[in-house]
Amino acid sequence: MNLHEYQGKEMLASFGVRIQRGIVATTPAEAVAAAKKLTEETGTSWHVIKAQVHAGGRGKGGGVKLAKNLEQVEEIAGQIIGMNLVTPQTSAEGKKVHQVLIAEDVYYPGDNEPEEYYMSVLLNRANGRNMIMYSTEGGMDIETVAEETPHLIFTEEIDPATGLLPFQARKIAFNLGLSGTAFKEMTKFVSSLYTAYIKTDSSLFEINPVLKTSDDKIMAVDSKVSLDENALFRHKDLAELRDEREENPVEVEAKAVGLNYVDLDGNVGCMVNGAGLAMATMDLIKQAGGEPANFLDVGGTADAERVEIAFDLILKDPNVKAILVNIFGGIVRCDRVAQGIVDAYKNMGNIEVPIIVRLQGTNADIAKELIDNSGLDVQSAIEFQEAADKVQAVLA
Ligand code: GDP
Ligand code: MN
Repeated sequence: MNLHEYQGKEMLASFGVRIQRGIVATTPAEAVAAAKKLTEETGTSWHVIKAQVHAGGRGKGGGVKLAKNLEQVEEIAGQIIGMNLVTPQTSAEGKKVHQVLIAEDVYYPGDNEPEEYYMSVLLNRANGRNMIMYSTEGGMDIETVAEETPHLIFTEEIDPATGLLPFQARKIAFNLGLSGTAFKEMTKFVSSLYTAYIKTDSSLFEINPVLKTSDDKIMAVDSKVSLDENALFRHKDLAELRDEREENPVEVEAKAVGLNYVDLDGNVGCMVNGAGLAMATMDLIKQAGGEPANFLDVGGTADAERVEIAFDLILKDPNVKAILVNIFGGIVRCDRVAQGIVDAYKNMGNIEVPIIVRLQGTNADIAKELIDNSGLDVQSAIEFQEAADKVQAVLA
């Protein structure tokens, strides 16, 4: 689960990470009030208006703008709220902006030039250790830095037995070329950032840019926070921050009825019991020349009601040209599932795409007969390959 920038920053601040301060707003009037409040608290009269959507590259898409007075705050907030923000990380339609973060301008002039760094915390799956990745080349695309100048990206791995050690935080500050106040600020920043990562059971933090201000403060100007969904049960406060408007609507609907559904780009919908078989089915579809339109594990109880809900979800995707149902009848008998499919089909009445059903296991032969005698546009199969061939035939 991902957090918005403002939610991530508030969470980080609660662990002692210095952040660019800001207040979220949903209307231009709220934006102006937020800017006034920030001016009282921080003394700055310039503000940045930042679109709050779950996508990076907002600056490039016109979703981050500087306002030098309250009229500009109102005007820019009015432009950004409600817009469809297109960035290199969104689809071509973009993402609708429902709220903006009004933040203090932290790029003010002073003794030194402000400097932007990159920092992320994530799990190195190769050795099961968390690591901090960082670079002097912050602010811009880290992907480009990784491609063109990979030697400018450093990593620091953390031993789970000891946690982040003080010398490691100092090494990071040193490698970023810092000294004096900024050096101390950076060691504190890194250690509180890592504590936040561990305590919240996060799977990814990406802070780009981490800013060194002209007066040597180190702070998070942006935040991307991904929480581990499997640990959310012990973070009720964070779980409440979920913004379903940012998520795939069909996936949200599926989750509400307890189905494990992941939307994909292909043309063959699939309904399978068991996650492993679902993965194998997706391979099968590819082999047959199709592309899976979704991952869907209907679980153990594939009765008519559940099958109908599943068909309904799959058919919400206009790209679906065929549906492959692949059920292994172990505890659940195939004939019951077949009856469920026939009942659901008749009940829905308007399914326009061909359905191929492969049932294997207990009572598979009775199930096949049931499907074959139903008089519906449903084809049965018992073997994996037979099902693949039938999918291939209907796609041709
Ligand atoms: P992203 O484009 O989605 O990654 O959004 P960011 O939060 O990283 O902001 C994009 C860019 O806006 C940053 O790299 C900065 O250059 C700029 N920016 C952010 N905050 C400020 C600020 O307080 N003042 C000024 N002048 N620029 C800012
Ligand atoms: Mn950024």
